[in-house]
Amino acid sequence: MKLTFLGAARNVTGSRTMVETGGSRILIDCGYFQERKFQDRNWDEFPVPPSSIDVVLLTHAHLDHTGLLPRLVAQGFKGKILGTHATCDIAAIILRDSARLQQEDVRQKQKRHQREGRAPKHPYRALYDPDDAEDAIQQFSPVEFQRPVEIVPGVSAVWYEAGHILGAASIRLEVTEGAANKSILFSGDVGRKDMPLIRDPVTPHGADTLVMESTYGDRDHDSEVAIADQLAKVINETHEAGGNLVIPSFAVERAQDILYHFTRLLRAKKIPPTLVFLDSPMAVRVTEVFKRHESLFDAKSRAMLNQGEHPCDFPGLKMARTREQSKAINQIKGTICVIAGSGMCTGGRIKHHLLANIARPESTILFVGYQAEGTLGRHILRKPDEVRIHGQMLPVKARIAQIQGFSGHADRGELRRWLDGLDPKPSRIFLNHGEEGVAKGFAEALTKDYGIETLAPEYQSEIDL
Ligand SMILES: [Zn+2]
Repeated sequence: MKLTFLGAARNVTGSRTMVETGGSRILIDCGYFQERKFQDRNWDEFPVPPSSIDVVLLTHAHLDHTGLLPRLVAQGFKGKILGTHATCDIAAIILRDSARLQQEDVRQKQKRHQREGRAPKHPYRALYDPDDAEDAIQQFSPVEFQRPVEIVPGVSAVWYEAGHILGAASIRLEVTEGAANKSILFSGDVGRKDMPLIRDPVTPHGADTLVMESTYGDRDHDSEVAIADQLAKVINETHEAGGNLVIPSFAVERAQDILYHFTRLLRAKKIPPTLVFLDSPMAVRVTEVFKRHESLFDAKSRAMLNQGEHPCDFPGLKMARTREQSKAINQIKGTICVIAGSGMCTGGRIKHHLLANIARPESTILFVGYQAEGTLGRHILRKPDEVRIHGQMLPVKARIAQIQGFSGHADRGELRRWLDGLDPKPSRIFLNHGEEGVAKGFAEALTKDYGIETLAPEYQSEIDL
């Protein structure tokens, strides 16, 4: 059996790992590289012909785990793409959105290059188009949690609740190679206990080899109580100042988490009634998927449903689908809250709301998600004197706030507890999905504390098991 790390190897996006065994090729996730310095890798040839891959297994729907599927399919992959039902539903929304953004990016780039007289590094062609995305979606084949599926001869797979986003899973493979049995567990993105809406991660059956994420292998998060209190404080202070609250948010999970906190804070009367706009067609669609998969909610949220209240819906919540609805938001007087994408302010409707609010001292820009290096969000977080948005230089006068603990990723203590629960313990651990320094540091710590050989493999490294 051979493992090849084709992404999220000493970086946090582009998750893609190939397992080769008994003449079969299995790909675990097929993610898009989002960090600017690694984006060229999205254009690289696949290291093996896509037609030679038998099956793709998805841990969850996030773009950095699914975003290269349309390209894989366009280049000849004909097999099934297996993921839980909610993963398939959310991934379909994400891939359609991504294809649209890829095309939009090409148009913008072409315009910019013509204006600046620059030559392109890549052809003016989208990485993939909406038809490619539809073709990939056609190959989705939903699976149930905790029910073994034979994916290729001699290999069965089980999906375990990972508590990261709706539908997210750890995947365990059991492989028969001749007389030998081997097992390998992919943690996927590990979530956290007591996250809004979704269930806690469950402990999968242990395996000989573990491939584990390490996003927050170097830090600890705030607790959920602290998050609700911090959010209430920001909302109340913005009301007092008389400005707007602008929240850049990812469309998947984070937007629903915020709606959940609003619902509970309003119910507990910890914040005044507030008009909240979910200004993202994608987040609106994902919220609808959440409503279709209420069976995956945790006990607290199911109890709210039983009392006739939805855990992420409340009076005052408006869904902005059209461009006109979005533009009308900035005409409203008085304090409102806008939740819009993209989560790192790299594009989308959030830019219009930043434009309208960033120079207003009474408004607040609240960051609730990870802001990668090189993004507008990270830049604003540093509180520069001025910032360029849609070609306009604006003074940064609004309050810039951040709530850290919203993360959908386990912190280092939680990753260790997840690892502690595994039985049997792995004999080798490979850390992926973490920035280089973080992954290496965490690997060293685990090797020392657990006595288990732990490595942070490089991009494209191959390991014989
Ligand atoms: Zn994820």
